[in-house]
Amino acid sequence: MLQLIPVSLNSSNKDNIHIATIVARIIMIMMMLMLFSNTRFIYLHHRCMAYGTQRKYASGGVTISRSMAVATALLPSTVSSSSSSSSTSRRYTTTTRGTALHAGSKQALLPISLDLNWIHQSKDIAKQALEYIDASPDPFHAVQTSIDKLTQAGFLPIYSEESNTATAASSSTKIQPGGKYFFTKNRSTLIAFTVGKKFISGQGGFKIIGAHTDSPNLKIKTRSTKRNQITAGCIQLAVECYGGGLWHTWFDRDLSISGRVFVRQQQKEEEEEVGDDTFPRIQQRLIKLDRPILRIPNLAIHLQSAQEREAFSMNKEDHLVPLLAMHIKNALNKPLEGGKQQQEHVTDGIESTFTSNQTQSSLEEMDEKDGWIEYQEPILLHLLASELQVHISDIVDFELNLFDTQKASFGGAFSEFVHSARLDNLASCFMAVQGLIDYSNDDKGISEDEDVSMIAIFDHEEVGSGSATGAGSPIIKEAVEQISMDLLESSFNSSSHTPMSSASLYASAAARSFILSVDQAHAQHPNYASKHEKGHAPIMNHGMVIKRNNNQRYATNTLTGLVIREVARRAQLPPVQEFIVRNDCPCGSTIGPVLSSQTGIRAIDMGCPQLSMHSIRETMGTCDCTLPQ
Ligand SMILES: [Zn+2]
Repeated sequence: MLQLIPVSLNSSNKDNIHIATIVARIIMIMMMLMLFSNTRFIYLHHRCMAYGTQRKYASGGVTISRSMAVATALLPSTVSSSSSSSSTSRRYTTTTRGTALHAGSKQALLPISLDLNWIHQSKDIAKQALEYIDASPDPFHAVQTSIDKLTQAGFLPIYSEESNTATAASSSTKIQPGGKYFFTKNRSTLIAFTVGKKFISGQGGFKIIGAHTDSPNLKIKTRSTKRNQITAGCIQLAVECYGGGLWHTWFDRDLSISGRVFVRQQQKEEEEEVGDDTFPRIQQRLIKLDRPILRIPNLAIHLQSAQEREAFSMNKEDHLVPLLAMHIKNALNKPLEGGKQQQEHVTDGIESTFTSNQTQSSLEEMDEKDGWIEYQEPILLHLLASELQVHISDIVDFELNLFDTQKASFGGAFSEFVHSARLDNLASCFMAVQGLIDYSNDDKGISEDEDVSMIAIFDHEEVGSGSATGAGSPIIKEAVEQISMDLLESSFNSSSHTPMSSASLYASAAARSFILSVDQAHAQHPNYASKHEKGHAPIMNHGMVIKRNNNQRYATNTLTGLVIREVARRAQLPPVQEFIVRNDCPCGSTIGPVLSSQTGIRAIDMGCPQLSMHSIRETMGTCDCTLPQ
């Protein structure tokens, strides 16, 4: 096991051992990947369950999990299409795979084809991914959707939202080997983890999969009203661009609003609260209006000059302002929705939300000013209050963004594509969450696990991760340290316990840990094929991509890339695809370098190839959500 990487990688014995240890850890991580990581690998776990085997396999001195062994039988034939009949070579052998690899350069010249069965077999898990994404139009919903799944699977909240992970744990829940837990930051970043039953503080590592919950979008400004500049009789909302969106794709879409609203509580409720006894209790409420209430209309082609049409450009301040309503006389003089809101009222349209038997005078007549509410668009507040069934005057703030109400769908003649908003990066978030859940249900895996298996899905990646809740925050470092300390304390009665300082614990854990930063990659675009360097041009439906950049835009280094490739080879997974941006092209980045530099933990950046990144509607391969049967 320790000889997987030749010792010549490093000259000193000490470092050889170190590398060997890291390699061993990474192998474990790769096996974790197959159990709970991104996209393609998760399917292996399902397949394992279908096989119903609890066996272990040995190969080359390495004890390999059953999923790795099963993976051998599941490798796709696409990579070997030149060497044998695809219909008969789905069950890959080492020999055929070796042939395929040897003939790699020749294969690149051949048309690449998929097996129709693979697409059908991939649709089930892909459909689950799309449902997750539809339910998560913003980071707050992404976290809540994840929490719902984790809670259902028995994960326990561990650190309170307001506390610093390094200072306070939930009084009622103590971390134990074999347990599964989660905590959030700002309700837009989520950490979840399982503790292997063989974990020993000071000896165990952390297998971390990172992704991000945010996507480029238009956020409603803190002063949402634009009534001081009503034009063409239309009520509009003030919005701010978040991240680097392909903003022209937001035109002529059926848009709506989601996010969180802070509501002053009239009475104590058993829901999430912030504040203390000296201040009014404020409750966070999630909101997601599923009907299209907003629109950013294009300018008719007849009203554009030839130059304007050719430029295909717009001004982000002037031209991205969404329409909310026409100005309607006395529209808000009707009472607010009250009592139990009927679902048809929500879907029937704006007028129906104004019928009620309760509450309040018109917002326009409301004389309560607090320096915030008078700067809000009244119709927006009306919609929020109606949906949440609260008084307008109880709404004290909100954090809302726009989203496309069109549901995610399969596409292509054979459903080989999935089309959805926010594939970057909720596709990865889904697979991380679902995979961790599946892994946590695997008693055998947890029983043998000597590490903590963690997922971390962060907010604010699209704006550089530099926030208290982003990957640039101390969240991971504090979590590794605190969890190690808590587990050390819980093992006081154990003979394996060795007293260690938190700094020593962290250093020990970090040296044994590995971060897999999973974020979507750029597939080669058939209409813009020259945008990719030919040797590093991933394509959809053909597996995960290692992302590299020697200018450190990605965290992959030679060692981490080599190990992943080697592990994939041993597991007889499809060859990993590689991406390096052209020298004459700017390069994206992601959380890998941020996390790695913050924590000192080795990392790799990988992801599934997709098209139209940062469009309001993106495309990826259905088969990249799974592996073929
Ligand atoms: Zn991303």
